Amino acid sequence: MNPLADRATTLTPSLTLAIDAKAKKLKADGVDVAGFGAGEPDFDTPQHIKDAAIAALNAGFTKYTPSSGTPELRAAIAEKLKTENGLDYKPSQVIVNCGAKHSCYNAIIATCNPGDEVLIPAPFWLSYPEMVKLAGATPVIVPTSEANGFKITPEQFRDAMTPATKMIILNSPGNPTGSVYTREELLALAEVAVEEEILILSDEIYEKITYDGAVSTSIAGLSKEIYDLTITVNGFSKAYSMTGWRLGYIAAPVGIAAAIDSIQSHSTSNPTSFAQKGALAGLKGDQSFIGEMVKAFNGRREYMYDRLTKIPGITCVKPMGAFYVLPNISSFGLGSADFCDKLLDQQKVACVPGIAFGSDAHMRLSYACSMENITKGLDRIEAFCVGLAK
Ligand SMILES: *Cc1c(COP(=O)(O)O)cnc(C)c1O
Repeated sequence: MNPLADRATTLTPSLTLAIDAKAKKLKADGVDVAGFGAGEPDFDTPQHIKDAAIAALNAGFTKYTPSSGTPELRAAIAEKLKTENGLDYKPSQVIVNCGAKHSCYNAIIATCNPGDEVLIPAPFWLSYPEMVKLAGATPVIVPTSEANGFKITPEQFRDAMTPATKMIILNSPGNPTGSVYTREELLALAEVAVEEEILILSDEIYEKITYDGAVSTSIAGLSKEIYDLTITVNGFSKAYSMTGWRLGYIAAPVGIAAAIDSIQSHSTSNPTSFAQKGALAGLKGDQSFIGEMVKAFNGRREYMYDRLTKIPGITCVKPMGAFYVLPNISSFGLGSADFCDKLLDQQKVACVPGIAFGSDAHMRLSYACSMENITKGLDRIEAFCVGLAK
C-alpha cells in the first residue's frame, strides 16, 4: 500500500534544498559563508505594526475572525486597491489569506481542473508549477529571453496556447528576474488573454519595490474585460517586511472570490486574528518605511550589478524591481546546480541555482542582506570565476 496520494508524489523536491542545507551546515560549523539565498527583506517589521498586533493581543482579539478576514481589513485593502492601483473591488471581493503564497494556491485550486494547462513564463517563482500540479492541472513553462528582459511577449503567449489553456501566471515585479512589465506590455498580453478567454493570475507582491522610475501596473485595471479575467494577488510580506506574519490577499471577480472564500472556510479558515490588526496598521499608518527600505535595496542593487557585470564571463539583465539579480553564468560551461555547488565548496558563497526557477543558465542572488555580505561575497564570486576561466 502506498500511503501517499498521487498529488504528493508528483511534486518536485526543492532543488535548492541540498545547497541550502549544506550552507547552513557550514555556517553552524563556524565557516564564514556569504549568503545570497534570502527570499525576504532583511529589515524588521515597523514598530507601529508590531504595536497594533500587541495591543490586539492584550485586548483579547484572539478568537476566530470571519474566514475571509476582518471586515475592516478587507475594506482597507479595497480602499488601497482603489487609490493606489486604480482597481474597483468591493470589500466582499477581497479575501485575506495566510500569505500571498496561500493566495496564489487558493486562486489556482479554485479555478483549475485536471487537464487544464497553466502558462508560466520562465524564469518563474518556483512554487507556481507545483501549485498547478497540486490542483491536478498541467504547468506549461514558456521560456522568455534576456533580450526582452525576461518578459513574455504576446507572440510567445499565443504560441504556447492550446484549447486546454486556462490561465497565465504573471509576476511583475518578478522573482527571480527583477523584471517589471510596462503598462503597454501588460495591455498587449491582456488583449491576447481577452481574445482567448484566459484567466490571469497577477502576483503583485513586489509592487512597492521598483527602481529607476519603473512603476508596477495592476493589469486588472486596464479594462473591464481584463478585470473580469484577473485574480490580483498581493500581501504584506515584502512591502512591510512581514514574512513571518503570514498575510496575503486576493481580489477577484465576485464568483471567483466567493469560491476562494468557501475553499478557505473549509481549509485554513481565517488568517491569524491579531496579525490582521498589524496589517491594518501597516496599510493605514506611515508608509515612509517602504521608501527607506527600497532606497537601501537600490544602493545594493547598483553595487551588485556593477560588480557582476565587470566579471569576465558574466552577463546580467539589470533588475528593475524586487530584490534579486539573475546573472547569466552559462559561459563557464557548468550547469547552474554544479556552478553553485562548486562556488559554495570552494569560496563559501551560497547562491540559488537558476534551474530551480526553470533556467539552467542563471543563478539567483538576493540583495536582501548586508552590504558587508555583498562586498565579501562578490570578491569571492569574482575569484571563483577568474579561477574557472583559467
Ligand atoms: C515572497 C513571494 C510571495 C509570497 O509571500 P508570502 O510570504 O506568502 O506572502 C509570492 N510570490 C512571490 C513571487 C514571492 O517572491
